[in-house]
Amino acid sequence: MKTQEIMARLQAKYPLEKEYLQAVQEVLESIEDVYNQHPEFEKAKIVERMVEPDRIFTFRVTWIDDKGEVQTNLGYRIQFNSAIGPYKGGLRFHKAVTPSMLKFLGFEQTFKNALTTLPMGGAKGGSDFDPVGKSNDEIMRFCQAFMLELWNCIGPDQDIPAGDVGVGGREIGYLYGMYKKLARQYNTGVLTGKGGTWGGSILRPEATGFGALYFTQHLLQKAGKDIKGKKVALSGFGNVAWGAATKATELGAKVVAISGPDGVCHIPEGITKEMIDYMLEMRASNRNKVEDMATKFPGKALFTAGKKAWSIPVDIALPCAFQNELSEDDAKELKANGCWCCCEVSNMGCQPGAIHFFQNNGILFAPGKAVNAGGVATSGLEMTQNAEHISWDAKEVDDKLHFIMKSIHEQCVKFGTQPDGHVDYVKGANIAGFMKVAQAMLEQGTI
Ligand code: GLU
Repeated sequence: MKTQEIMARLQAKYPLEKEYLQAVQEVLESIEDVYNQHPEFEKAKIVERMVEPDRIFTFRVTWIDDKGEVQTNLGYRIQFNSAIGPYKGGLRFHKAVTPSMLKFLGFEQTFKNALTTLPMGGAKGGSDFDPVGKSNDEIMRFCQAFMLELWNCIGPDQDIPAGDVGVGGREIGYLYGMYKKLARQYNTGVLTGKGGTWGGSILRPEATGFGALYFTQHLLQKAGKDIKGKKVALSGFGNVAWGAATKATELGAKVVAISGPDGVCHIPEGITKEMIDYMLEMRASNRNKVEDMATKFPGKALFTAGKKAWSIPVDIALPCAFQNELSEDDAKELKANGCWCCCEVSNMGCQPGAIHFFQNNGILFAPGKAVNAGGVATSGLEMTQNAEHISWDAKEVDDKLHFIMKSIHEQCVKFGTQPDGHVDYVKGANIAGFMKVAQAMLEQGTI
């Protein structure tokens, strides 16, 4: 395989799909050497097949807002790869959603799901619907209209959506209610991230953040360090940031910054339980403003407009918001302020320049597809509970999540350890995920 040739072909074919091209480039660069040691992959054109989604559904979603006006959005479901199991991945509702964004997310999801050790293929979906400023009724009507098209593409053994940016427990509830009505199927396993009384797994809401901190602990342990007493900055204040703040605090770290699209809140004394609880209210309000934290906790959370979490001096940076949210300049600022570790919790949260800067300057770095895989892994555990018609208790789910994150870390070390002994977590995660998917594709023939 020649990465450059494949990239040139994809660039010519999809010139505007920059996030998708970025995600593919990163994976191909990582796997090139290993791939070239396997002529059977080349013969079966594994890479050429793997970079294209199996299929893409695009649909119009029309709904009526609170003023009685008709609104139209676009909806998508991208079923990327089913080599190791049914399609699995979240739905993103955000005004910037495009096919390129969902293709990058579906591509990443395929490798991430392979890392979880569970049998799940990769998918992603969503809409350019903007939840900011929408009422609860508008959210419900939109979710119902979205499901009117989606229901026919999904199923507990075909494709199992879940949440992502802009889609949490409330949205999954509205989507599930409408799915049942349309499909007349009552199998709870069709969606994950459900409520606790109707098939949801305990700890699923916390799982992405908790899993990210378990991974970070293993990474620090390998590097001979401890998270206790360390200062942490995280971006965002949604579900993922909430889980990460909870677990980081529980493990003895001090979360001193959270951020939003409007700016950053510096919390010099460290985030408290009340503040972490308030993050949930901030998300549910659909205002999308981190300044609300400073208004609620004056003197304790200090808001600065237009600044990112990466401007606050910390030991560990945890991007928890959106792709490409941490640039090379941010990486330089973090280092200048003493930061020595960055675990990407958002999907592709760091720009390529930032990743290279971290790697070339001795800053520990691990990519989202390894760090944040605890979310989808716990979705996999939710599917198992649904299939068995049982619910596990918190300890059982947490133990399994812990075990999975440990195994993901081990896979990264196995495939990412370099001749000088240091671990390249980007390579490790990409090669480990790729090998599993590629092998499965090979064994299933040319389809
Ligand atoms: N959206 C999450 C992710 O990026 C979770 C997906 C799922 O649970 O299916 O992995």
